[in-house]
Amino acid sequence: MYDYLIVGAGLYGAVFAHEMKQKGKTCLIIEKRDHIAGNVYTALENGIHVHKYGAHIFHTNDRKVWNFITQFAEFNRYTNSPVANYKGEIYNLPFNMNTFSKMWGIFTPEEARAKIEEQKMKALSDLAGVTPEDSPGEAKRKMDAFEPANLEEQAISLIGTDIYEKLINGYTQKQWGRPCTELPSFIIKRLPVRFIYDNNYFNALFQGIPTGGYTQMVEKLLEGIEVRLSVDYLEEVKKKKAEGCESPQTLGLAKKVVYTGPIDAYFGYSLGALQYRSVRFDTETLDMDNFQGNAVVNYTDAETPFTRIIEHKHFEFAQRYHEDGSLFNEEENAADPKTIISREYSAEWKQGDEPYYPVNDDANNALYEKYKALAEKEENVIFGGRLGEYKYYDMDQVIKVALEKAEKEG
Ligand code: UDP
Repeated sequence: MYDYLIVGAGLYGAVFAHEMKQKGKTCLIIEKRDHIAGNVYTALENGIHVHKYGAHIFHTNDRKVWNFITQFAEFNRYTNSPVANYKGEIYNLPFNMNTFSKMWGIFTPEEARAKIEEQKMKALSDLAGVTPEDSPGEAKRKMDAFEPANLEEQAISLIGTDIYEKLINGYTQKQWGRPCTELPSFIIKRLPVRFIYDNNYFNALFQGIPTGGYTQMVEKLLEGIEVRLSVDYLEEVKKKKAEGCESPQTLGLAKKVVYTGPIDAYFGYSLGALQYRSVRFDTETLDMDNFQGNAVVNYTDAETPFTRIIEHKHFEFAQRYHEDGSLFNEEENAADPKTIISREYSAEWKQGDEPYYPVNDDANNALYEKYKALAEKEENVIFGGRLGEYKYYDMDQVIKVALEKAEKEG
């Protein structure tokens, strides 16, 4: 009998298991896939750590989370600075003075603010209730009080129509499969807007990629914890039910369950399916040293079918690694130049696909609340993580909630 049966060997499950082990509890992790680390899984191919389920760049403002996670890996100094390619025009992200300068041929923050204000006024004044009779002061007051109701209005309020049209509209529609008017505004608030020349994508005190990849980091977290791979929990529960087991949810193996899979799947989609976005990666190994000169290039027009291209080696400054962790030297690199790129295609999730992003619009959030009410009644089962809590968590937030939950468990 284990204290905890943990379903899923991703970040939430691994952090929780590690913490409980420190407290002298016993944990068994079961994982549906044939590897640990969930969607942060990286694999070494041609000397390059490939982010198999999409780019993961660790960033946090939470010192406690940073101090915790850096026990399990050394983090490099990678700073995310994606580039946007709009029909061959190249812009820096996030939205900052480099972007504004290239877009409008301007130089000062004042000019940039004026441009945004002008475009915002033109696009949104009707919605804000501005009339031709209003004085400039009154019009400004109304615009300032205007509450954007969706992603489109939020984006235009923040950075105006030119940037919205070239860098947001097409990309967001591809990423979410919905028009920006039907998406919640919080999604775009993830990105900073800066009136300084600074291409750092995140407003975070701490940022980096674990040297040696995420899989090694999760392996360290899981040291001394039993993990069984390729075990489908929900299938096992069904079997136990059929056998007449008294506590099928724990598979008769543990006192408590920590479930990190999709919450709607746990309940057999009994209230209907929550919506997720899935991602398909088209990965290619190329016989060249450097394909695009940056780890992340977003294709922000609506026509290019993929959202972005990731060139994995740039997460580690183009360094390549041998299996033993030693670096390729110059001759080795020159003798066999290689780079690996992944084109990322976004799609609506359907049963059998991997869910990546919860679609946190009003309808889905309302359905989630109903599942959450069911979950609260489920004795001895903890639901955690991006899928278990149906929240667009970043890695640091997942670690934070897992640490907090473990602390409460005592
Ligand atoms: N976004 C955009 N253009 C870009 C990059 C991002 O419009 O070039 C928007 C898009 O709606 C996306 C959101 O910003 O869903 C959040 O982007 P983030 O990079 O945080 O997404 P993730 O890396 O989690 O996929």
